[in-house]
Amino acid sequence: MLKYDGYDIVLQEIPNEISLCFTITGCQLACDGCHSEHLWNPENGKELNPEIFKKLLIKYKKTITCVVFMGGEWSYAELLILINIVKEFSLKVALYTGLNEKQIQRKYPESLKNLDFIKTGKWISKLGGLDNSNTNQILKNLKSGEILNKYFLH
Ligand code: SF4
Repeated sequence: MLKYDGYDIVLQEIPNEISLCFTITGCQLACDGCHSEHLWNPENGKELNPEIFKKLLIKYKKTITCVVFMGGEWSYAELLILINIVKEFSLKVALYTGLNEKQIQRKYPESLKNLDFIKTGKWISKLGGLDNSNTNQILKNLKSGEILNKYFLH
């Protein structure tokens, strides 16, 4: 069962989109220096089933243009159900994952067809996040192929 630690409406995660962003618990990557170790335990958080998810989309659909899942690929069948619900609402959908794109291609190849955006790459503190030009992380528009990291550099 997918569970979420919280959700919020955010402007920064996907450039030019207003996103409803869910932080999913159960992350299996255990990055060194993880900022959110409480997300590792899949028992933490509240249930995010399709019914609850739809109610939240109905509530926020006039405000948002995109839904971001922070994790959840480890329960891909369940995540895919939620991704398809996002599509029913004609919203865009993004996944933030600590896996790299090759790992996603091997483990969850369908996800690359179903998503509009994907951020890949585990957290490596010495390389930093998207606002660091040395980062290993990549945010990509999967429809156009554009790498969006440039929007985070100041
Ligand atoms: S992917 Fe994110 S939540 Fe998961 S271990 Fe790495 S930093 Fe922590």
